[in-house]
Amino acid sequence: MKMQKTIHEDKFETKGVTIAFTAPTPLDPGLAWACADHPDPELFHPVDDAALAAAQELCAACPVRELCLELGQRRDEFGVWGGVLLESGKPLAAVRKPGRPKKVA
Ligand code: SF4
Repeated sequence: MKMQKTIHEDKFETKGVTIAFTAPTPLDPGLAWACADHPDPELFHPVDDAALAAAQELCAACPVRELCLELGQRRDEFGVWGGVLLESGKPLAAVRKPGRPKKVA
């Protein structure tokens, strides 16, 4: 079976239950996900700007960057997808600082 490299809906059955999902997933073989074997998956959930820059540097050279970003947006993902920091699939301009935002006077 030929690998479909565009984003598509897929499903499988297990124990009489049908599971539907948006494919491909980062675990799909045959796609060159640059981060597939990265030793630190937390890199893609950055806690500061330096970590975000490190993840974006890896993404910049990734051959599936556009597919990855579209997949992250379609699946309402969090973290860095295609070099873009997402929150519920929406791009964030910067890493959120922990805690409540400061009150504006
Ligand atoms: S674009 Fe970034 S997050 Fe997406 S597969 Fe490539 S390296 Fe991983």
